[in-house]
Amino acid sequence: MQYIPYGDYHMHSKYSDGRATIAELAKAAKELGLKEIAITDHGPRNIGTGVKSAGKYLEIKEEAAKLNKDQSDFKILVGAEADVISCDGDIDVPEEIYKELDILLIGLHPYALPNNLRDIWQLTLQNLIHNYTGYLKGKVIESNTKALKNAIKRHRPYAVTHPGLKMPVDLEEIADACVKTGTLFEINTGHDFQKPQQIEIVASYGTAFIVNSDAHYTGSVGKLDPGFKILLKAKISPEKIANIVH
Ligand SMILES: [Zn+2]
Ligand SMILES: [Zn+2]
Repeated sequence: MQYIPYGDYHMHSKYSDGRATIAELAKAAKELGLKEIAITDHGPRNIGTGVKSAGKYLEIKEEAAKLNKDQSDFKILVGAEADVISCDGDIDVPEEIYKELDILLIGLHPYALPNNLRDIWQLTLQNLIHNYTGYLKGKVIESNTKALKNAIKRHRPYAVTHPGLKMPVDLEEIADACVKTGTLFEINTGHDFQKPQQIEIVASYGTAFIVNSDAHYTGSVGKLDPGFKILLKAKISPEKIANIVH
């Protein structure tokens, strides 16, 4: 069985660390037959790669609106991939900005600058030490999971991006938070790290999924097949996949 993707809802343009313009990303997606994309640049606290300020999202929105005027069978949505910057679930895109956007994605990133010293220790330094030494594993999982769960509950994003990538979390607790808030759990084809066995466990909570490319250049836009394969192997029913043609 082969799924037909409707849209790709996670990608980065030149406004953050992507290499292509919004128009170029849209063209690549249209050529693949997609009907929608979402431009979701990194939040401003993503060190070296985020948008210059949260206000940039409104500029991106204007640019997308101009492009959308000239096309009727394809739509560019604008969102943000916000960083979690505290264990209480603060994110680096303020509500007054993200409520103006089409979608909000939230993800954990090791190189996002937290709010204060406690959070710098728990969300940045502990993870770095853990990555290099394996030390502190239990504590790292506990604080990452708490931060991400709080962010999901407080901000109710459209989807949570690449859960478990580079910053380990308790996937079952994240699945539970997703189901309770109506948040989609992302299968991310830009980073090949998710396993069908894990996803089967995540799905046992009743979780719904979205497959996104996390493209940073035109060549990877809409390359979603590896993600659908994971979902097939994990025996996920099509009704639980948000971005396919049903
Ligand atoms: Zn990300
Ligand atoms: Zn991303």
